[in-house]
Amino acid sequence: MTTTTTTPEGIRPVTATRVLVLNSGSSSVKYQLLDMRDRSRLAVGLVERIGEETSRLVHTPPAGGAGKREQTGPIADHGAALKAVAAELAADGLGLDSPELAVIGHRVVHGGQKFTAPTLVTEEVMAEIERLVPVAPLHNPANISGIRTAQALRPDLPQVAVFDTAFHTTMPEYAARYAIDVATADAHRIRRYGFHGTSHAYVSRETARLLGRAPEDTNVIVLHLGNGASASAVRGGRCVDTSMGLTPLEGLVMGTRSGDIDPAVTFHLMRVAGMSADEIDVLLNKKSGMVGLCGDNDMREITRRMGEGDRQARLAFDIYIHRLKKYIGAYYAILGRVDAVAFTAGVGENAAAVREAAVDGLEELGLAVDGGLNAVRADEPRLISPAYARVAVAVVPTDEELEIATQAYALVTG
Ligand code: ADP
Repeated sequence: MTTTTTTPEGIRPVTATRVLVLNSGSSSVKYQLLDMRDRSRLAVGLVERIGEETSRLVHTPPAGGAGKREQTGPIADHGAALKAVAAELAADGLGLDSPELAVIGHRVVHGGQKFTAPTLVTEEVMAEIERLVPVAPLHNPANISGIRTAQALRPDLPQVAVFDTAFHTTMPEYAARYAIDVATADAHRIRRYGFHGTSHAYVSRETARLLGRAPEDTNVIVLHLGNGASASAVRGGRCVDTSMGLTPLEGLVMGTRSGDIDPAVTFHLMRVAGMSADEIDVLLNKKSGMVGLCGDNDMREITRRMGEGDRQARLAFDIYIHRLKKYIGAYYAILGRVDAVAFTAGVGENAAAVREAAVDGLEELGLAVDGGLNAVRADEPRLISPAYARVAVAVVPTDEELEIATQAYALVTG
């Protein structure tokens, strides 16, 4: 297939159909190489503990799980990590120097208000991502480093940034603003941005497809329940509200994050417990949520403990579900008409007990789950509501890498 691609140098014809997707965290890089002709995965992998003595690279080649390769040993930085990834890909005949590689798509966590769509990386774009570091101090520096490393490896290739916040930029001003002094908020770019946007976009569209409807005519409440968790209200394919805010801390109870909390808890801890801002940051982001409530953040372990009558695990589960219900109710009210509630990510796709409990008692809202359908395990999008239910309840596996690849490839091939 011959197509054209937009590079920093201009438009040129290429026969390239591959996309490398990079998700660079502070000490990790996740990657996938996809062929956009059939959206197949040519390689998948992960480098973790970058900067430590015990860095680890796990690479799964096209053949799949059986051919999985693993190496451990120090990998100093993102540059070294990407070079190690490039070597693994080359060993499978998929080297990054291949003319078949069309674009590298990067997950970038914070795009602020400016980036509303996937964006070809230029120096101005890099400067803007850099300007957003104060609102995403953990994430954007790692994303910048991933892009710089990829640019050094293939300076001729277009790099596309796909922002976690982009899908949420359609939120109306009254949903995005906090009710605080406007001048202070504007001076410090304090507003609700939302995250997991690539997943919410993909899942809301796939849910409409599952229902056989056009996304423009479909209203969906998306519940992205992973270790991080967020809900969104999507009206006709556009996000009108989401549960995460200035940072991913707001909203649902998560694996290690508290979600919604009275902000006065922060000053109380400063004044009464003598904690610093950094200590409270760690408390609320890393030591709260399910791990803070019961010592475990893995829903498999929590439900297993509940089965043994563990009351702490039960209470943590009940708090998790209570918050989830509040958001389902809130987003129902905001949307007015709901066509589907879609569960996704690690917990949403796998924890039948969470799905059942979250809609339990909501029959008056047209919501119900069929026990038999809910118990089925599958990788495909599926309905779990009974035929009589007015609102569809669905399990829709998310695929952020495919969505990033699709958006990046579409941008460079027009
Ligand atoms: P993230 O991308 O935020 O790290 P994931 O979407 O991969 O998270 O979700 C990870 C979480 O999914 C785990 O912490 C665990 O709670 C949950 N999970 C994974 N598999 C199962 C399962 N089979 N049953 C219940 N929960 C599961």
